[in-house]
Amino acid sequence: MFELSQPESTEGPLHFPLDGGRDLASTPVIEVTEDGRTLDSLLRICYPVRPPALDQMWHVEQVLEAATKYQMDWALHSTREALSRIAEEEPISVYAVACRYGLHVETSQAAQFSLSLPVTTVIDSLIHEGVAGEPFRVLMKYRSECQAAALSATETWLWTINMPKQFWTTHSCCTRTTVRDRTGRVYHVQPWWIRYITMVAKALRDTPSEDVVDVREALGLYMSDGRGTCGRCLSVAVDHITAFATKLSEEIAEGIAKIPFPSL
Ligand SMILES: [Zn+2]
Repeated sequence: MFELSQPESTEGPLHFPLDGGRDLASTPVIEVTEDGRTLDSLLRICYPVRPPALDQMWHVEQVLEAATKYQMDWALHSTREALSRIAEEEPISVYAVACRYGLHVETSQAAQFSLSLPVTTVIDSLIHEGVAGEPFRVLMKYRSECQAAALSATETWLWTINMPKQFWTTHSCCTRTTVRDRTGRVYHVQPWWIRYITMVAKALRDTPSEDVVDVREALGLYMSDGRGTCGRCLSVAVDHITAFATKLSEEIAEGIAKIPFPSL
């Protein structure tokens, strides 16, 4: 900050009257472009007073810009923390700002949170935020790679083999159908299970996130399939389907977590 250029003084060294009064005429004045709220937040970060509420994106960006301009490291740190906090609720807004300021950690966090949004919302928001060129291309490529990783859990089912609870494949009381996963491996499952996996795969193509797994939807398909009338299966359905939904969600999340977000 002290390396910034200072205005030339025609009055010599700063003059502070001993009586505590203000000698405004001889006080150097530096014109700044920031508004009062931005400067208030910036100074609150630096002084031992109540910290500013950095919870609105437009304000965080203004403080971030000022912190960068004046090389105020602690204020910069605080605004980056604010971006991380806001990223889950407003991932594309945070992505846009983080890209502009070259903040890789926050860019990556925002990109991950954006996976929970439908693709049309992401594209509309990127356009609205003025994100174009390389940042746009990189985010969409990352999303595509995450989608492929997430879909893997619905296309190859080897991960289900060691699950102890899956009445839809172990019970012989109800009709099972024979299906193959993408690798050609054969599985014998109740029809509702295939319908549910297909439903999850369709949802992942639009929203590549473990959030698409909903145990209530799986239970609904099981019940609507008429399987709810078999007492043997029904007695374990909630327990087994809940365990399956949890495991499926974990598989999707692990697949996505392996995809690194590239440096911009
Ligand atoms: Zn049964």
